[in-house]
Amino acid sequence: MRDLSNDRSLLAVNSATVKPWNLEQLIDGCVRAGIPAIAPWRDIVQAVGAGKAGNMIRAAGLTVTSYCRGGLFPAADEAGRRLALDDNRRAVDEAAAIGARNIILIAGGLPKGSKDLAGAHAQVRDGIAALLPHARAAGVPLAIEPLHPMYAADRACVNTLAHANDLCDQLGEGVGVAVDVYHVWWDPDLAAQIKRASSRILTYHVCDWLVPTRDMLLDRGMPGDGVIDLRSIRAMVEATGYSGHIDIEIFSAENWWKREPAEVLRICLERHRTVV
Ligand code: ZN
Repeated sequence: MRDLSNDRSLLAVNSATVKPWNLEQLIDGCVRAGIPAIAPWRDIVQAVGAGKAGNMIRAAGLTVTSYCRGGLFPAADEAGRRLALDDNRRAVDEAAAIGARNIILIAGGLPKGSKDLAGAHAQVRDGIAALLPHARAAGVPLAIEPLHPMYAADRACVNTLAHANDLCDQLGEGVGVAVDVYHVWWDPDLAAQIKRASSRILTYHVCDWLVPTRDMLLDRGMPGDGVIDLRSIRAMVEATGYSGHIDIEIFSAENWWKREPAEVLRICLERHRTVV
């Protein structure tokens, strides 16, 4: 397992962690803090345009671990599915423009009014398959991120690493997985599925699971503040040969988003060294 205690070169910050910041502030803040990599969300990239965003990021010498995010494939009708696919192709183009190493995909949930979970699963598989030629041509790998089952209805119906691995088996080259501890820490099959994913692990996300969790979406903890055995999971991931960055991704409306972002980065760096 890699020693992070005196090494900031593997730390990446997801833009959601310092949500109040725009892209320029994120870049400046990371450069000032000596953080070498970022994973921006589409909103802050689109705000300046992907071409200009890519120039800004390259000029600062930052690595883009992932672009967040695409996916959300299931829809009630063909027109809806086509809209989703078009938007995903644009997201892939933006990811290429900013030099992202991959794009995160979340599945999407049940179409409005539907109870057909198996149908939604099929739509996700077909949606990724339809996106894949464009992504391969653009040189942007697709990182399927399984989300915690509490999001199955409205956000993502791929909820286990096993399901994401199955999709990779079916879809072939150009597809991998994003392992986010927040979504997979509870899974009794985690060790086996990380081993199975192996070189398909395209990115690794950390935060922490707070007890109690006050909001299903916006109450993630800073690494070290919750119950996830971060070191054990990282050991499993790195045992596969994973050599990429470790992204800190925190959605925290009532705590971290209310703090001074530069201070949040300082704490991210400290936790990266001590508990991640
Ligand atoms: Zn994540």
